[in-house]
Amino acid sequence: MRIGTPREICADEARVAMTPDSAAHLQKLGHTCLIESGAGLLAGFTDEAYRDAGVEIVESATELFRSADVIAKVRPPELIEIDSIDAGKTMISFFYPAQNDVLLARAIDRGVNVIAMDMVPRISRAQKMDALSSMANIAGYRAVIEAGSNFGRFFTGQVTAAGKVPPAKVLVIGAGVAGLAAIGTATSLGAITYAFDVRPEVAEQIESMGAEFVFLDFGDQQQDGAASGGYATPSSPEFRQKQLDTFRSLTPEIDIVITTALISGRDAPKLWLADMVAMMKPGSVVVDLAAERGGNCELTVEGTRIVSGNGVIVIGYTDFPSRMATQSSTLYATNIRHMLADLTPARDGILVHNMEDDVIRGATVAFESAVTFPPPPPKVQ
Ligand code: NAD
Repeated sequence: MRIGTPREICADEARVAMTPDSAAHLQKLGHTCLIESGAGLLAGFTDEAYRDAGVEIVESATELFRSADVIAKVRPPELIEIDSIDAGKTMISFFYPAQNDVLLARAIDRGVNVIAMDMVPRISRAQKMDALSSMANIAGYRAVIEAGSNFGRFFTGQVTAAGKVPPAKVLVIGAGVAGLAAIGTATSLGAITYAFDVRPEVAEQIESMGAEFVFLDFGDQQQDGAASGGYATPSSPEFRQKQLDTFRSLTPEIDIVITTALISGRDAPKLWLADMVAMMKPGSVVVDLAAERGGNCELTVEGTRIVSGNGVIVIGYTDFPSRMATQSSTLYATNIRHMLADLTPARDGILVHNMEDDVIRGATVAFESAVTFPPPPPKVQ
């Protein structure tokens, strides 16, 4: 098959879905690789590097869409991109089918098969294709780096000839993939780190990364909101009140807050309220990774950085992985090539779209002009 990657249309997107390294692996599966000229430049991959890896460079997106059988990209396609693909061909990208019904309907109309990288089931066998986790890991790391570049002090405490410097105190709210990456980064920079999650089972992971778990004494339930197979569920009003009271008691001490709390399919819960920002010291920083879903902080403005009336910086960027485009492209392209390896079982360049396979079935949202979303639950965990 001819696997092609276009330049991302979105002006703020620096990632690319194929790297010279991933292309080398795809060719070993018997595929031919194509890339639109310049598609990798913002991520640090030149046309020459692709050419050296055996990739055909094509001059325009039109030509790429026409001549590739499988299109691999990062962002959900624009309608114009779907319209450029012939029936029976396959698009692999982030797609978010629940939020993109018009796009999904267009793919069905056009007979384009769609594999949504955001729909890869979170089962052990699929970890190497779990692009949401790869990107969340980068977002968590970058959130701390972004906080650091806005924070006017060291993270680590120091005793210097010019005086004693206290360590920064960081609170991470939500200890999923992004939260754990943020905890690891903040502690490795020397900050004193606290972390909270509604799922009590993450306490051990938090502590193993050198942070202190913020424990809520909530009677028999302790932390609640963890009822559903390891995934968070919405908190009760009483629990939420206790959670907010606990955050308020910590607030005057905290220099940096990284919020990552989310429950799939819902708006982000508001957990860092305006009065908490008002209690923080000037120069403190809040980085809200949930900005795209409404934000965990009441003051967050999606996509931008604001400074509150009392001098607290609140960051609501939604492009953290793109801000580390070389790293995120490398990991994303690896996720994609693993997906294509599963789709090429005989390693002979022939795509077998096996809808009996849990991972392929879970990620396929449009197939042979039918909507295949939402998928049935996976048979194997
Ligand atoms: P995840 O599902 O692995 O983690 C979310 C965590 O939040 C879970 O551990 C959950 O238990 C916890 N949580 C839910 N409700 C909570 C509450 N009320 N209080 C405390 N904790 C609560 O998700 P993830 O993959 O780590 O992603 C985290 C966030 O980062 C998401 O909002 C995601 O969209 C976002 N993200 C942002 C960017 C960006 O560029 N801004 C990039 C990647 C991911």
